[in-house]
Amino acid sequence: MKKIGLVAVFVLLAGCATPTEQTSGVDRMYVINCGENHVKDVSRWTPGVNVGKPHVFSNHCYLVKHAKGWMLWDTGNADRLAAMPNGLAVAGGTITAYMKKPLVDSLKEIGVTPADIKHFAMSHGHGDHSGNANLFTAATLYVQRAEYAAMFGEDPSKVGFIPSNFDKLRANTAMIIDGDYDVFGDGTVTIKAAPGHTPGHQVLVVRLPKTGPVMLSGDMVHLQYSWNNRIAPSFNFNLPQSLATIDAMKAYAEQTRTQLWINHDLEQNAKIPKAPQFVQ
Ligand SMILES: [Zn+2]
Repeated sequence: MKKIGLVAVFVLLAGCATPTEQTSGVDRMYVINCGENHVKDVSRWTPGVNVGKPHVFSNHCYLVKHAKGWMLWDTGNADRLAAMPNGLAVAGGTITAYMKKPLVDSLKEIGVTPADIKHFAMSHGHGDHSGNANLFTAATLYVQRAEYAAMFGEDPSKVGFIPSNFDKLRANTAMIIDGDYDVFGDGTVTIKAAPGHTPGHQVLVVRLPKTGPVMLSGDMVHLQYSWNNRIAPSFNFNLPQSLATIDAMKAYAEQTRTQLWINHDLEQNAKIPKAPQFVQ
């Protein structure tokens, strides 16, 4: 019953034309379409279920407007894919990645340039989350110690990372985290360690002023189905750790009545207003 409850309290409050600006805390969040990944066989993500069925994964970036500045979470598929109307085949042709509208264009529509963003974090280093990471060299990078080591260590490809996606971040001011971190010091934007998918995978909890607390999933789970059924793909860096993370985050979400917004779940995201609209 509790699982159903979490879905049922899915409350959304879209931005209106004349918002009142918050003088403290989080004012609003933009959910930005950051591409799509079309797969030939979804059962790679749902072992034993829907074998051989094609599936479309959505992909999003999230821009938080806090009284102390802008924070970006994840950067989506690379903007250069916008020049490829048929997408880019990756992972041996099993996935085709699309990016119809570049992230820089979506930011521009909101009135933000990459240089305006001073706080930046990614759920993890995989290509569909780090595709445009190199744009954000003016920001403090918030990253788990284990992820930083995997990204900038000797063999990033071991974890499925493409170092050229984020090599410019090496020079960023970095806040290296072991566990949870309160980004603005007021409890409204909290990074939580959620390892398993990658060594230092993390999720973000944003306390929206009207919607309430929302957890941005990264790839902790890829689908609502995975969350409901405690499923993680076998290609994760550490499968038992992935399941332990799901258990821990479920307990947290239930205790704090936090909604889970799943980056790659196309169906769930259809209900969420997209930039240039925003949620509060
Ligand atoms: Zn991933």
